[in-house]
Amino acid sequence: MGKSIPDDPPALDLARAALFLDYDGTLVGIAPTPAEARPDQAVLALLGRLERRLDGALAIVSGRGVADLDLMLAPLRLTVAGLHGLEVRPRGAAMPVCAGDAGLLTPARAAMSAFTERNPGTLIEDKRLSLALHYRLNPNAGGAAERLAEQLAAESAGALRLQRGKMVVELLPAGRDKGRAIDDLLTLDDFVGRQPVFVGDDVTDEAGFRVVNERGGMSVRIGSAEATAARYRLSDVAAMQAWLHGSLDRESV
Ligand SMILES: [Mg+2]
Repeated sequence: MGKSIPDDPPALDLARAALFLDYDGTLVGIAPTPAEARPDQAVLALLGRLERRLDGALAIVSGRGVADLDLMLAPLRLTVAGLHGLEVRPRGAAMPVCAGDAGLLTPARAAMSAFTERNPGTLIEDKRLSLALHYRLNPNAGGAAERLAEQLAAESAGALRLQRGKMVVELLPAGRDKGRAIDDLLTLDDFVGRQPVFVGDDVTDEAGFRVVNERGGMSVRIGSAEATAARYRLSDVAAMQAWLHGSLDRESV
């Protein structure tokens, strides 16, 4: 299936844009387990060039934790919003600012552990401030994993919210999402006054698309399968990288 040409985003205006990129399924392809989804040297070089040309107005906005993202992106140290905005770490700061109470997840952690023991191939990604239950390696357990997460969210009486993703359900403290993370990042010196551009691939990115649209920015969803608030589409990770390369090359002529 080819790219849908009318939906392709225009080239980035690197002098004016603030660029926010999701990680999994956007910057790197989805892998069987989170640890296997790593950027190659070409992607790291691309990010380094973008950060310089955007004068630092580049951030990764992901469901992963900040420490995990730093490890994946080393030796780069970019501005990152992790755990759907529960952690925000500007590029120059030593530590992330965290919002959310890890203690809220204690009962859910025990219940999810019991679930993974009963369902081989499912695995917990424990991000301290959030708990993701992956069933990519055992898709038949998906329905039961969803029901467990729904039940645990209901039992928290509003303290935890359920975030669905691709072959994953996640519980995290209520009140933060990628849209709020982008709003916060836009107040930082590197980003203030710029036009927000957000690229993502999943339902978790829709809150980010809505915020960017409200602010007159550009929203881009990767893939063509699902309805989206994004105004533009790119077919896959390779098309996204080609679009970024094109934006860089256009302006360096
Ligand atoms: Mg993603």
